[in-house]
This record gives sequence, C-alpha cells and structure tokens, in this order.
Amino acid sequence: MRAATFHAPGDLRVGDIEEPTTGPRELKLRMHATATCGTDAKIFKHGHPRLEPPQVIGHELAGEVVEVGAEVTGHAVGDRLQVIAAVPCGECWACTSGAMTVCPNQTSMGYQYPGGFAEYMIVPEQVLKVDGVNVIPDGVSYAEASVTEPLACALNAQELVHVGKDDVVVVMGAGPIGCLHVRLARSFGASEVYLIDVNAGRLALSADRVHPEAAIDASSEDPVARVKELTDGRGPDVIITAAPAAIAQEQAIEMAAPQGRISFFGGLPKDDPYIKCDSNLVHYRELMLMGANGSSPDHNRRALDLIATGAVPVADLITHRLPLEQVQDAIDAVVSGEAIKVVVEP
Ligand SMILES: [Zn+2]
Ligand SMILES: [Zn+2]
Repeated sequence: MRAATFHAPGDLRVGDIEEPTTGPRELKLRMHATATCGTDAKIFKHGHPRLEPPQVIGHELAGEVVEVGAEVTGHAVGDRLQVIAAVPCGECWACTSGAMTVCPNQTSMGYQYPGGFAEYMIVPEQVLKVDGVNVIPDGVSYAEASVTEPLACALNAQELVHVGKDDVVVVMGAGPIGCLHVRLARSFGASEVYLIDVNAGRLALSADRVHPEAAIDASSEDPVARVKELTDGRGPDVIITAAPAAIAQEQAIEMAAPQGRISFFGGLPKDDPYIKCDSNLVHYRELMLMGANGSSPDHNRRALDLIATGAVPVADLITHRLPLEQVQDAIDAVVSGEAIKVVVEP
C-alpha cells in the first residue's frame, strides 16, 4: 500500500510499504481523510522523542472499517469511524480519576502506532479498549470528521478555563486551531472574540472565515494595548495562546482582566520553553494559568457531536484537500499560513 513514512528530520517518504494485517483485537481501516496540523510539521522538521522512525505519521483520523478482528465486537465492515490520536492507558490514577489527558502512560497514533497518512491503518487494541473510535454520523464527511481530534483538544482547553456565556475571549494564533477556538468559544456563549496573529496573511484568511469581533495584526500593532482599548481598559476574561511563541504567553498574562483565565494551549519549543512572567500580575489580579495537553476519548466524542450538530462548523475551514502523494505539499501549506485546514485523502 502507499504510505507516508517518516525516516528522519526532513525525510518523509511516500512509497510502497507492506499492507498491515489485522490482529484478533484490532480493526483495519481504509483511510479516507487524515488532516494535517502544526504537529506534523514539527515532526517533519525535528522528529519527536516518542516517535521511532521509520514510522507512518498522521494522527487526525477518519476512515472506513474494512476488516474486523475475530474478538472485536460492536464494529462492522463499512462502519465510518473517527479515531482518537492520544491513547490513554485507561488504568492509571489519572485515567481512573477522569484525567485521561495527563495519563503518564499515554501513547499516540502516528507515534508508537502507525498513523493515517496511508491507504490502510490498524486501530490498535489499546484504542478500542479506551473507547477511542466514534461512528461518524450521516451528513458528516470524512474530511470534516478528521478535524474532530484538533477540535477535541480545543474543547479540553476551553473546558479547563471555563469559557462561558458573555466571556470576552482572545485567541492568539490564527492557524486552524485558532479558528476552531474562535468558533468553539462562540458555541459556549462568548460575547466577543478577538483573533491575533503576527502573520497578516494568515490572520486575514482566518478572520474572513470565522469573523472575530477584531482581528489584530501583532506584527504592526501592540496587541496588549489594542485589546485593553477594546475592553475599556479591563482586559479579556479568557486568553488562549494557540501559537508556539513565548511572547504570546507573556502578552496573554499582561492583557488579562482581573481574575482572567489563560490557557497555554500551544506548547513552546523544547529547547527554549521559558517565558518572562511578572508573577505579581498573576498574584494581585488573581489570574489563572492553565495548560492543555491533547484530548480524551470523551472529548473526541463530544467534538464530533459539535461538528455533527453544526455547533462548530468545520467544512469551510478545510481549504485544501490533497492526495497522499502530495503529503509534503500539505505540510508545507500548513507551515506557510496560506491554508487553514489541510486534509490528506489517501
Ligand atoms: Zn494534530
Ligand atoms: Zn492512564
């Protein structure tokens, strides 16, 4: 079968590899849509400590069951499925207390298990064990369903900082995940959402789709001053940093309203993960700083539901659909900012 295999940083090869066989407790999917994201670009450039090459990457997954392992129940050939990316163990203290996103034994599709940039993919036993597949409702395309996983990650983050009715929300980073955050915040009842980016082209493209109350180009104006002005000096209730930039996190702390909640959604580069933080701002303003690490099977289930009900539409965020042979172009489009969501259709 055709697959995109990561061999080393900068070396992603589309070629023929052996078609996987289905174990008794596994499912085999014909992949219809695997979306690309910033993480794929990061893996392509730097590799990843948990990923041992050669490996088929791709973790935003939607496909059709073509084979059901002998011991698997509840699934049938022809089922249209969305699959989780982060795979919790289901047994540790975190998993059993409902905190699956911070499971210390977490594995991931496209890292320890072969991913979705391939004609066929195995759904491992561990994914089925934690209820990690969801039937795609009629009316939701495979491409839309492949956006479930990033939306699930956004859902986890926004629930952790309690985005709710009448909140003023700032999203820093106008990539695909930023767009999902804008729409999700609206679905939670946010009254105003401002979108910020340092790439004017990306900001314009995304603002055109998700219509924030203000689109702020941080390369030409001070986002902190502008947001303060837009909120009559008070600052926003919630700030979500969906960009791998220390400055975005620093600005988020600076602009937050008293008792503001900040989600550090995007991680920072591993070799330079430090920010400069006036701790007294956090102290006196009673700010809440919150991380976000992926999503649980339950987040995925509810994210797919948000897409299916139209609460968070994603179809118009998919700007590019490319065949597997062009996976490199898909990753380049993600990096350049000329695309919002890029879906590979193997
Ligand atoms: Zn992703
Ligand atoms: Zn666990």
